[in-house]
Amino acid sequence: MTNKEYADLLLPGVKHTWEEYEKMYPERDLPEGAMVTRYAPSPTGFVHIGALESSFLDKRFAKQSGGICYLRIEDTDQERSIENGISQIIDSLKSFNITFDEGPISETEEKGNYGPYIQTKRADIYRAYAKRLIEEDKAYASFLSKEELDEIREQQMKSKQRIGIYGRYAKDRNLSKEEVLDRINKGEKFIIRIKSPGSFFNKIKVNDLVKGTMEMPENDIDEVIIKSDGIPTYHFASVIDDHLMHTTHVIRGDEWISSLPKHIQFNEMLGFKAPKYVHYAPLTKNDNGTIRKLSKRKDPEAAVSYFTEAGVPKEAIMLYLATVCNSNFEGWLDQNPNGNIDDFKFDFKKIPSSSGTLFDLPKLYNISKNFISRLTKDEVYDRTIEYATKYDEEFKEILEKYPDYSKDIFNIEREQKKPRKDYEKFSDVKGQVWYMYDELFDKYKDEYGYDYQGVTDKEEIKNIINTYIDKYYDVKDDKDTWFNKIKDLSDELGYASNMKDYKENPDNYKGSVADVSTVIRVSLTTRSQTPDLYDILRLLGKERIKERFNLI
Ligand code: GLU
Repeated sequence: MTNKEYADLLLPGVKHTWEEYEKMYPERDLPEGAMVTRYAPSPTGFVHIGALESSFLDKRFAKQSGGICYLRIEDTDQERSIENGISQIIDSLKSFNITFDEGPISETEEKGNYGPYIQTKRADIYRAYAKRLIEEDKAYASFLSKEELDEIREQQMKSKQRIGIYGRYAKDRNLSKEEVLDRINKGEKFIIRIKSPGSFFNKIKVNDLVKGTMEMPENDIDEVIIKSDGIPTYHFASVIDDHLMHTTHVIRGDEWISSLPKHIQFNEMLGFKAPKYVHYAPLTKNDNGTIRKLSKRKDPEAAVSYFTEAGVPKEAIMLYLATVCNSNFEGWLDQNPNGNIDDFKFDFKKIPSSSGTLFDLPKLYNISKNFISRLTKDEVYDRTIEYATKYDEEFKEILEKYPDYSKDIFNIEREQKKPRKDYEKFSDVKGQVWYMYDELFDKYKDEYGYDYQGVTDKEEIKNIINTYIDKYYDVKDDKDTWFNKIKDLSDELGYASNMKDYKENPDNYKGSVADVSTVIRVSLTTRSQTPDLYDILRLLGKERIKERFNLI
């Protein structure tokens, strides 16, 4: 029996030969230097912040080199796949502006000439290449049962040996074709393993564009390539896909480094030119003094939804991730606060290589705060409504009822060179502006309480606000006139209109112009800290100011 006939018996019904598949996936016609990258998630649900980072890097490097970034769904582990897992990935990434040149576009459709892009739809391809390895005597049928594998594992653990099927443990390696076929005919289940040509004592040099050259032991494990249900393993499938889809750069988290000797070996055995590898350090967290990888299970902030539900703008999340991806991005952002990420050229050399990057929430919120401060009043209005529509019906109704007034509120100290930075996220907005709306003011003022900062004499408070509204308030005043009037009011009531005078002789005064402003501010808003009081007075208008003063 020829090797070919034997391979046909082990893996029957394969539609095409590997040579035919090679022809079906011709070289891509791309300019010199264009990168082909892939984002290759498993559809297990839940878009992790690390997934966003990974897909962002894939997309950026492809785009800035004039290349292609495709999406490939690695669903060979069917038990972990969830329903609608593919559309969840596509939709979440799309909402962050991460889309792909090729790959699935929904659960059932895809675009691109190098598909299918879902591994379970490519079973025939992997089997064709497995047949090739069997024909070349580089792979074999292995009948080790679960019990036998458990026993081997236990024995290896007990004697502190490496775990896996290698050397003397690879006992089905040398079964004759006849023995194999005989056992198959008897109905025994088998899987296909490679005959690893490697030795653990050989060191190989692997090159990584982030980590540099690393020395690692060669793979000597007879890895499984096709499981008993005919489905390939991740390692086998991804090496074949990277080859057929002409991936030039495999960019992924460094948890995959330990798999590199295996992937390199698979490429060699199959005669493929290996792609370049780019392994970046994971996001980490300081957990009571211990630095560990950010965990899906333990850390709520690992879920992208943690931020979107709080109303952190997606652009800010991406800007933050860009600072993680390239160490010089932050400096660039400082220089170009309005810059577009697309204008920054990312560099593999600037990807953090060791130990991991601390997921820095204060930095993320700071970026977010700066980002929101640079939005126009219209943008803040639209985005706040968008957020409130999902999370705060009451606020949404108010915003829709008073569009122009709301925009005037949002415009206080905005659309200027140094804008005010009081929102880190859209969930902060209501808490900063509620007092500007009568409906919310009536509802929440007592809950918050008036914060007069030590001015406690009620009669004095009334005296200040009544004198102000009766003698000094005029909605038409410009800012200077307004402030001069506050000073006049202070002089009239025995408060120093000049802070320097007050500091020199505090005993000569009841207080200073600052106390007078505070009394007016708190009486109107309950707050001692607000945006510009002049603007607040202007927007409230005389009648509403009077109404609020009357409550005191
Ligand atoms: N499917 C793998 C994962 O879920 C991808 C690893 C790779 O990029 O090769 O992380």
